[in-house]
Order: sequence, then structure tokens, then C-alpha cells
Amino acid sequence: MARKKISEQEWQTFLSLADRLEIPVRELLGQKVRFTEMEAAGHRLGRSVAQITTERLALARAEQMTEPQRCPTCKKLCSLVHRERELQTLDGPLELCEPVAHCSACRRDFFPSASGTGTASAEL
Ligand SMILES: [Zn+2]
Repeated sequence: MARKKISEQEWQTFLSLADRLEIPVRELLGQKVRFTEMEAAGHRLGRSVAQITTERLALARAEQMTEPQRCPTCKKLCSLVHRERELQTLDGPLELCEPVAHCSACRRDFFPSASGTGTASAEL
């Protein structure tokens, strides 16, 4: 699949983002450095974009889930709270905001978003 070209304006957005994340992409533009240094800076920026994107997607999904959820064991309706937790991913650690429900009958927490598409470690 052919890679899409980015516009000059989009490239400037990349540079601004790299500046904010303290990744020296802009500095490398004017330097004679090894290819591996350029590649490393590009890779750092890509990983950062991936982490931020995943965090935002997870937050959006968490914010959509506010209704009480049924306990997967006893089916009791349990209210939700949102908790942050760190998750290791291919792109580094993420701070995930996740909805968590506590079932007082079963005395356990469960992560409604983890059923089917989540991050697997649903039990505490
Ligand atoms: Zn239960």
C-alpha cells in the first residue's frame, strides 16, 4: 500500500509536536548526523503519537460508559467509577482511564470495557 504524502502544514504540525515533546527533530534538520539518529528521533515521535492516540481513544471509550453495569458473575447492577492505571504497550507505558465497577455481593471489581475488546487483565 502506497504511503500518503503529508502537506507542508502537516509537517509543521509534526515539528511543533516534536518540539513540545522535547524530541529534537527540528534540530536534526540542520545537522549532519548519522541516519540512525534521524531514524531514532522519528521513531520516538511516532511512539509518542501512538501513546497519546491510544490514551485518548481509551479515554473517549471510558467517558461513553457511565451507566451501571451488570456483574458478570451474579448479574447485580453495579455503579461505575473511573480509575487511572498504567498499562505497558508496544509503544511504552500508557496512563489509561478505565471504568471500574465493584460488586459488593461478589466482593470483586470488574472492568466492563475489558469484555471482548479490552486489555484482558479485568480482575484485580
Ligand atoms: Zn457479583
